Amino acid sequence: MGEGKRSIWVFGDYRNYFQNRVTLQLISRASDLAKAIDATVCVTVFGHGVDEWVWEYTCHGARKIYVCDHEKLKFYSNDIYLHLMEKLVREHRPEILLVGATAFGREFAPRLAKRLKTGLTADCIGLDIGEDGLLVQTAPAFGGNMLTKIVTPVKRPQMATVRPGTFQEIPHDNDAVAEIVRVPLPDDLPEDRVTLVSSVRQPERVQKLEDAAVVVCGGRGMGSRKKFRNLYELARILGGEVGATRPVVYSKWADEEALVGQADKHISPRVLISFGISGAIQHTAGIRDAGFIIAVNKNPHATMMKMADVAIVADANQVCTALIKELRKRIRS
Ligand SMILES: Cc1cc2nc3c(=O)[nH]c(=O)nc-3n(C[C@H](O)[C@H](O)[C@H](O)COP(=O)(O)OP(=O)(O)OC[C@H]3O[C@@H](n4cnc5c(N)ncnc54)[C@H](O)[C@@H]3O)c2cc1C
Repeated sequence: MGEGKRSIWVFGDYRNYFQNRVTLQLISRASDLAKAIDATVCVTVFGHGVDEWVWEYTCHGARKIYVCDHEKLKFYSNDIYLHLMEKLVREHRPEILLVGATAFGREFAPRLAKRLKTGLTADCIGLDIGEDGLLVQTAPAFGGNMLTKIVTPVKRPQMATVRPGTFQEIPHDNDAVAEIVRVPLPDDLPEDRVTLVSSVRQPERVQKLEDAAVVVCGGRGMGSRKKFRNLYELARILGGEVGATRPVVYSKWADEEALVGQADKHISPRVLISFGISGAIQHTAGIRDAGFIIAVNKNPHATMMKMADVAIVADANQVCTALIKELRKRIRS
């Protein structure tokens, strides 16, 4: 039996919540899409002792939540989670199903799509509803050289994984309400082929680049690894994170996880300060949701300078050093 009304589903991937709020970002985008096709935003939550996540998703825009809470679901199991999700999707037939492109989502979503015999667009950086009511899924293609728009005209659900940081979450609303549907553990669960021996959380940075409100981003124009390190000090003072272009990462001035661009991290800080970056499309595709952009470049005609709200024609390293000095003075006084 399908839903009375059409539905858009988001898989509740809460396991790395404190490093990664992609599920909240997807609920937010699903809410926009739902308005266009008159659908209900539903979230699935599987696990054990998951009420706090049900509450969190409710406060961030979910209108219906399917919860399966059982000790057998305490740890993620491919076989069991897929079985459960497949059953629910077949029963309720959502129009659209969104999964975060986390390590988990990248493993889970293609297998689910295969079982449901539907299409899946991986690593989307844009989702819209087209004139015909279909989900238009924008994703990098051909090694990140171009963006493609993909639709799933016949098969259902229309499935996509979406990069963390692509969309802004809806602010927390304590008064929000959602319908909670308790799903019993099916009695035809498959045998779990994997036995989990232990689970240890890998220590991560407290703040992710994708979630940072301030990002200081550096390019080849910083000149050297030593000069590039100054950006870390500036970011620290501003309470932000450091991003980098591909040449910088290739030169080992910054770690790979700092790479910003269409094939890598998609960031949406409130303030982005860009130092010595030309503004190649592969980089700017990753910063198009930045709020206020300040760019520093020797070349006033660089694309990055044209994109900026404030463009400073100057030596990147000199501006960075002067900013650090001035901010330190202000902190002391
Ligand atoms: C398939 C593919 C995927 C790619 N994916 C990505 C990606 O995800 N992310 C990414 O970043 N790139 C990506 N690239 C590379 C991208 O095309 C650009 O080459 C790269 O973004 C340029 O980096 P940049 O701006 O640091 O360097 P450059 O293009 O060399 O620009 C340096 C800038 O610094 C300025 N400058 C020089 N000296 C100074 C100074 N002293 N003070 C101030 N300004 C100065 C220059 O005027 C120039 O504008 C990809 C390329 C390909 C082919």
